Amino acid sequence: MNQNVPQPADLVHAMPDPALVVDAQGVVAFANELAVELLDTEPARRHLSASLRVPAVLEAVTAAISGEGPGSVDYEIRVPVPRSFRAHVSCLGPGKGALIVLRDLTREQQIERMRADFVANASHELRTPLAALSGFLETIQGAAKSDPKAQEKFLGLMKSQAERMRRLIDDLLSLSRIEMNEHVRPSGEVDLNQVSAHVRDVLSGMAKDFDCELTLESDGPLTIAGSRDELVQVIQNLAENALKYGSSGKRVEMVVHKNGEWAEVSVRDHGPGISEQHIPRLTERFYRVNVQDSRSRGGTGLGLAIVKHIVNRHRGRLVITSELGKGSTFMMKLPLKG
Ligand code: ADP
Repeated sequence: MNQNVPQPADLVHAMPDPALVVDAQGVVAFANELAVELLDTEPARRHLSASLRVPAVLEAVTAAISGEGPGSVDYEIRVPVPRSFRAHVSCLGPGKGALIVLRDLTREQQIERMRADFVANASHELRTPLAALSGFLETIQGAAKSDPKAQEKFLGLMKSQAERMRRLIDDLLSLSRIEMNEHVRPSGEVDLNQVSAHVRDVLSGMAKDFDCELTLESDGPLTIAGSRDELVQVIQNLAENALKYGSSGKRVEMVVHKNGEWAEVSVRDHGPGISEQHIPRLTERFYRVNVQDSRSRGGTGLGLAIVKHIVNRHRGRLVITSELGKGSTFMMKLPLKG
C-alpha cells in the first residue's frame, strides 16, 4: 500500500463534523474523534445500532447500504443537553457500506429562533404605541370632536407615543448598523476622559431634573482606538440608565481609569440595584427587569444591547455588578493596545 495516498480512515478523521463509515453489514469500520466524543462510546467494530439508537437514521443507513441515493434525517437528543442534528447518509458503492456525517444544527436553530423572536418582539413593541395613537385619533374624531381642551390633551399624548416610536426605530437602526460593522475594528483615536466629560455636560440637565449629582473622576487623558460617536453612545446610555433607574441614590459617579492593559470607564449608582438572576440577561434585546417601569421612563429595552455590541466591536468587555439596595456598577473595559 502506498503510504502517501490518503486512506478512507484518514478522510473520515479529517472531516470537520462527526463522521462514521459502516460496512455492508452495518458494522462501524471507522469513526472520527468527533463521532466518538458525540456518541460517548467507541463505535468501531460494533454494529451502528449499538452506539446510535435513532431508528430513522438506522433505516436511512440500511437504505444507503442497499444502494439507495444519499438521504438526510433530522433528529434530536435530550441528554446530556438537548441538541439537534442532521445525519447525512450516503452509499459508498455497491457492497461497500455507507458514510454517515452528523451535523450539529443546535446553534443554527437557536439563531433562527432568536431572529424570529426578535422580529416578533420588535413588531409588538411598535404596535403598542401605534394602537395607542389610533385610539387617540378615534377619540379626537369622535367623542372629543368639539372639545378643544380634550383635543389638546390627546394631541399631547399622541406626541409622546410618536416619540416612543421614533426612539424605538432609532434604536433598532442603531443596533442593525452596529451589528453590521461588528467585525470591523474602529480606527479612530478617542480620549475616554474627554468623551466622559462630554457626557457629563450633556446629561447635567437630566441629572438636575432627577435631583441627582453626576460626577466624573479621572486620571487625565486616556486615549484608545475607537469610534468617538459609538463610545459617547455607550457612556451616555450607561449614565442615563444610572439616572433613570438609580437616581434615588442621589449620586451617579463616572470613573475613567487605566488598569494595566485596560482602559476602564465605570458608571456607578446608589439606587435599588438589580437582583442577580437578571444581570446575565440585561444585554438581551428588549429584556427589561420591569417593562412598565422602563416604558414609563422612555426606555426601549435596546440600550444595553446596543452597548454590548459597541463594546464587542471595540474588543472590550462589559462588566455588570450590582447589589440589591446598594446600587449598580456598569463597567466598560477596552484594550489599550492592539
Ligand atoms: P431600557 O430602554 O429599558 O432602559 P436598557 O437595555 O438600557 O433598556 O436596560 C435594560 C434594563 O436594565 C432596564 O429596563 C432596567 O430594568 C435595567 N437597568 C439598566 N440599568 C440599570 C441601573 N443602573 N439600575 C437598575 N436597573 C437598570
